[in-house]
Amino acid sequence: MKQSNLFAYTTKEVSSDATALSHQLLLKGAYVKQIASGIYSYLPLGLRVIRNIEAIVREELEAIGATEMLMPALQPKELWDESGRWAAYGDELMRLTDRNDREFALGPTHEEIITYIVRNVLNSYKKLPLTLFQIQTKYRDEMRPRFGLMRGREFIMKDAYSFSSTDEQLDKIYLDMKAAYINIFTRCGLLFRPVEALTGEIGGSESIEFMALSEIGEDTIVYSTESDFAANSEVADLAVGEPSPDGIGTIAHAKGIEVGQIFKLGTKYSESMKAQFLDQNGRNQPLIMGCYGIGISRVMMAAIEQNHDDKGVVWPKEIAPFSVHIVPVDIKNETQKDIAEQMYISLTESGITTLLDDRDERLGVKLSDADLIGSPIRIVVGRDAAEGIVELKLRNASEAMQNTIEDAKKFVF
Ligand code: ATP
Ligand code: MG
Ligand code: MG
Ligand code: MG
Repeated sequence: MKQSNLFAYTTKEVSSDATALSHQLLLKGAYVKQIASGIYSYLPLGLRVIRNIEAIVREELEAIGATEMLMPALQPKELWDESGRWAAYGDELMRLTDRNDREFALGPTHEEIITYIVRNVLNSYKKLPLTLFQIQTKYRDEMRPRFGLMRGREFIMKDAYSFSSTDEQLDKIYLDMKAAYINIFTRCGLLFRPVEALTGEIGGSESIEFMALSEIGEDTIVYSTESDFAANSEVADLAVGEPSPDGIGTIAHAKGIEVGQIFKLGTKYSESMKAQFLDQNGRNQPLIMGCYGIGISRVMMAAIEQNHDDKGVVWPKEIAPFSVHIVPVDIKNETQKDIAEQMYISLTESGITTLLDDRDERLGVKLSDADLIGSPIRIVVGRDAAEGIVELKLRNASEAMQNTIEDAKKFVF
């Protein structure tokens, strides 16, 4: 993309509640624009990151046999009455009424809808197991929206639901999901830890939360210094220095951002909503369910929080809005302009997302914008370009390198 076509800007106007540096960078770099408390527009740069995270999620979930669909955000009260959650959910549920006085919720999650969709259809053990997922906007009237995309009232979630005929089938899907989540968060460049979790109002028997490690995290992870034991403090009320529950090491604490959670739901929804299948002996049984969420927009925020310096975001390579940023020193110099454009065309044609700074701006402005945009590789095309030399700098390195144009290309490919 040519930068003159990109709707990006830098602003120093950052609201006073943006206390975390990641939140400031999110606003300063025009990744998003706040519309109201906990409600954001994704601007072109932010949307590119979201799309990259979504692509990773799709790839990893399809690899374990899950299939994508899309459910509505507007959900009729009647289905929430069936599960009992219209009364139980509380003030976080956004409720509204249509012109005929029918009541609806703006979906905070989709157990009721998916159960309604599969009941009477997934009606035989022969059709099981099956896992479906969607990437959809969710609504929760959070008491304290904060840290930008971290806790929004409208946010993007991937939610998946599995249906099985036996506990063994559920166990296998749960483990496959755990492995897929580990791949997803690793590819998104996060430092994270799976921890034992409470099941909360969603219900179920077993659950793991995936915590991105961060000082601004709202959850406390209780872990052993020497074993794999790790749990949300809501599950394990253990103080620093106590022995651990498994007898290995002592307890330490860390702060975490919950970027995903997986649940063995069991039959909570299939029983209340009567979603049954015929087992091998011809008996009716409730479907055994699992549900699996990832906060797509929260992952973006956690990635910024873990990967930035004082100049901007240092994007992990798979989710960067652009992989390569080409910056000609002087766009009015025909040689520099031609060389920059040729590199731009050949990188773009090879499928490498490339941003070409074709603006007539001072070099200092262009370089500080490039730092804010945070592409993993920056190529500055200057005076030496006529002799076939450009300057290549990795966003996470302090020094730039002088390269021949051919070497720079080889480096990028
Ligand atoms: P939290 O404990 O932070 O309130 P949750 O446990 O209520 O999150 P889940 O119901 O498990 O959230 O939803 C799945 C995922 O959606 C979470 O792991 C999180 O990454 C994301 N998520 C939940 N609430 C929000 C929100 N308000 N804004 C952005 N992402 C969210
Ligand atoms: Mg919550
Ligand atoms: Mg939680
Ligand atoms: Mg959760």
